[in-house]
Amino acid sequence: MKTAKQYIDSLSKLHSNIYLLGKKVNDWVNNPIIRPSINAVAMTYKIAGESENADLATTSSNFTGQKTNRFNSLFMSTEALVKKIKMQRLLGQRTACCFQRCVGMDAINAVYSTTYEIDQKYKAEYHNRFKAWLKYVQENDLCVAGAMTDVKGNRGIAPSEQADPDMFIRVVERRKDGIVIRGAKASQTGSANAHEQLLMPTLRMREADKDYAVSCAVPTDAEGVILIYGRQSCDTRKLEDGDIDVGNFNFGGQETLTIYDNVFVPWERVFMCGEYDFSIMMVERFAAYHRQSYGGCKPGIGDVLIGAAASMADYNGTRKAAHIKEKLGEIIHLCETMYSCGLACSYEGKQTLAGNFQVDTLLANICKHNVTRFPYEMCRLAEDISGGLLVTLPSEADLRHPQIGSYVDKYLRGVADIPTEARFRMLTLIHAMAFGLTAPSYRTESLHGAGSPQAQKIMIERETDMAAKQKFARSISGIDEREDPYA
Ligand code: SF4
Ligand code: FE
Repeated sequence: MKTAKQYIDSLSKLHSNIYLLGKKVNDWVNNPIIRPSINAVAMTYKIAGESENADLATTSSNFTGQKTNRFNSLFMSTEALVKKIKMQRLLGQRTACCFQRCVGMDAINAVYSTTYEIDQKYKAEYHNRFKAWLKYVQENDLCVAGAMTDVKGNRGIAPSEQADPDMFIRVVERRKDGIVIRGAKASQTGSANAHEQLLMPTLRMREADKDYAVSCAVPTDAEGVILIYGRQSCDTRKLEDGDIDVGNFNFGGQETLTIYDNVFVPWERVFMCGEYDFSIMMVERFAAYHRQSYGGCKPGIGDVLIGAAASMADYNGTRKAAHIKEKLGEIIHLCETMYSCGLACSYEGKQTLAGNFQVDTLLANICKHNVTRFPYEMCRLAEDISGGLLVTLPSEADLRHPQIGSYVDKYLRGVADIPTEARFRMLTLIHAMAFGLTAPSYRTESLHGAGSPQAQKIMIERETDMAAKQKFARSISGIDEREDPYA
């Protein structure tokens, strides 16, 4: 298995085509805007080497029995699903941002079980190919980015009806040795920091959309792949001197717009090609896993936010005020509710035909739906506790300035024995989490990541047995025959 250092060295060897702020970046691994996001992924390698966390961060491969990073593993029990959530909470606590590697882990499990079922129906070879690719990923401890979200064009019409046929990734050529794909995936988490992209379709397909029903693995530096780096609010603070104003100096998230401009994919890396009737299975399985994931990472990041809010109350001298205690209690309640949902859908997981375990779909959607709301309220409460200085604070350069620095230090002090600099650091940390410097923000990412709220509402409705609930009500009310407790 790779160490964090070996992971970063391996990224330097890729010939990825990355654009940032309108320029091609060659030494992208050392770019100050990109590097924090690499550091966050590096933590997924670091914790795997820590003896106290080995049980959460590693497992044994069900192919080879060899030790494998959990991010590249199949969930072979409900216990494995629970450990995944605990690992994600731990990583959220230690990075306070999106550590990116979960999308690949969730994609691996969705593609594994779906390819098995495609092969059962069509006598195809996808599952064995996928297993061979996954073995290669495990043996080399590669970082995999799951790639689902197509750019989608007009949301009201199907892929094959779009004015521009490239709004969803499609197969433009079938050759003897493989396929050629074209299209783009948007909001791709950690894609530049991954060695491999695992592509999946983004929605249900019909026969006319056959060419769009494609799943395959593509090396990040394959010819024709272009990664255009997504902006984050205040990202150019990372180009300034000092380490205070960015709030979270070491870590950050990453999203790209990834272009696939006529990319050749050999058949051994193709896991779905035209089986449009299985597109929705792959989509929904992946979505359920990733909605579960948010019950791990978001509480972990929430722990840092809670710690920062409590520290600000200490520094402001308000910690003992009844309303502050009440607000801190409320943030904790919201945070632990998200975690409880992540655990619940894991414990209720069921085995797929392929053998790995799928989370409970209804509970995973409930989990993510709470995550579309709770971080907003948690940020609101943390901002309330912090005070308005959160958005009016002068810069680190002002604090360090030879003439005005002493004024800043004197007048922005809270409790006398806490250095003003500590207040600066805690405020910028909360600012980074709430407003989006360390990742897409804790708020908006929680809203749209792993599917926007309406996507969960649809699943919640579909997964609910309303007829059974109505039957309970009819029986209790006496419309139907009442149940006799003594019969
Ligand atoms: Fe992992 Fe959370 Fe980032 Fe998704 S948003 S990749 S679950 S850390
Ligand atoms: Fe996400």
